[in-house]
Amino acid sequence: MGQVRKLIFIPLFVAILVCQMAAYASAYRTEHVVVVLIDGVRYTESLGDTTGIYCPRLTALAEYAVVHDSAFNDSITTTRYGIPGTWMGRFHVLQDTVYQGNNVEFSRWPTFWEYARHDLALPQNKAIYITPDYGSGTWLPSFYPGYGPAYWPRFVQPAISDDNNQVDFDSARVVLERDHPVVSYIYLPDTDHAGHSGIWADYIAEIRQADSLTNELWNIIQNDTVMADKTTMLVTNDHGRHDDAHGGFQGHGDSCLGCRHVMMFAIGPDFKRGVRLGAPRASIRDIARTAGELLGFSAPLSAGRVMSELFAPPCDYIPGDVNGNGWVNGIDVTFFVAYLKGIGSPPPDSCDIGQGRFYVAADANGDCSVNGIDVLYMVNYFKGGPEILHCPDYSPGR
Ligand SMILES: [Zn+2]
Ligand SMILES: [Zn+2]
Repeated sequence: MGQVRKLIFIPLFVAILVCQMAAYASAYRTEHVVVVLIDGVRYTESLGDTTGIYCPRLTALAEYAVVHDSAFNDSITTTRYGIPGTWMGRFHVLQDTVYQGNNVEFSRWPTFWEYARHDLALPQNKAIYITPDYGSGTWLPSFYPGYGPAYWPRFVQPAISDDNNQVDFDSARVVLERDHPVVSYIYLPDTDHAGHSGIWADYIAEIRQADSLTNELWNIIQNDTVMADKTTMLVTNDHGRHDDAHGGFQGHGDSCLGCRHVMMFAIGPDFKRGVRLGAPRASIRDIARTAGELLGFSAPLSAGRVMSELFAPPCDYIPGDVNGNGWVNGIDVTFFVAYLKGIGSPPPDSCDIGQGRFYVAADANGDCSVNGIDVLYMVNYFKGGPEILHCPDYSPGR
């Protein structure tokens, strides 16, 4: 009797699962992008030093990240060009106006917060700018028609202190854990000021602090139940500093390689891991479109490009490893059933087959579709049945 019931149960079970097969999900796993701007660190004191004496934390974290070694400020190497350049995805001199009774400077073109809020219909607390409170001297996003103040980020501005990196970090912790913003921009200013002091030890101390705080931001993200494994963090600079043949670390602002070369550290669920890239040449103006690619907003007035070289190959998977933890076992079946019933997460590994995502690691019978029949195939495999297959269009592994 038990055997008969089981035989009846299985076709019903399959039919229900096939009917409940989830719709294709969006293109990427990233749901949050955090940009950390460390002001004016020369590449030779950041990730260009592979021994990690100046940036030990980010150098260690690079095992899980992609480091772009060919990233530049390809415009004027000052803060007032570099920072709005990262926001707008293009370079343009700040504009002057009077706003709310104050003389202010603003961005000529829409910024990535405006693009994100506009296209994704985000409330203001999902787009965050964390910077010390420079009062009316705070550079503003754009007044561009169709974008503008209705799409500006929430400004989170702790009072200026003798440790602005720390107060910005403290504010970031509160905001990330409370609001889980979709786009965040965290500005760490102190490295540049210490460089201008001309005191090498002070410059290095500020770099070490920024390195530590940035690593801790990643820990906060990965320990957050909403943001973990769904957040991409990009760490860069607005500009470098003169190389020693052009005036040394205390200054910046010309076209020497030291001023142009910046760090580009990228970590997240859709990016390569443990990889350093020497090409193609990237720019800090590429951040806006890259964030848009991940989150699904467009930055039509950006002159940058999507840094597609950062993205992991879409077919990196082990057949049958439905939950993507590197092993094929019974937990994959449990995970798979929960997903098909609509009560669990989608499998992390997928390939784009033109219409959207295809969870290739779950296609255990190799018929290039994912459904309840694959569950039965996997159960049979664990009972000694045939080997797990894969869709022949997509070979597993890198
Ligand atoms: Zn700067
Ligand atoms: Zn220079």
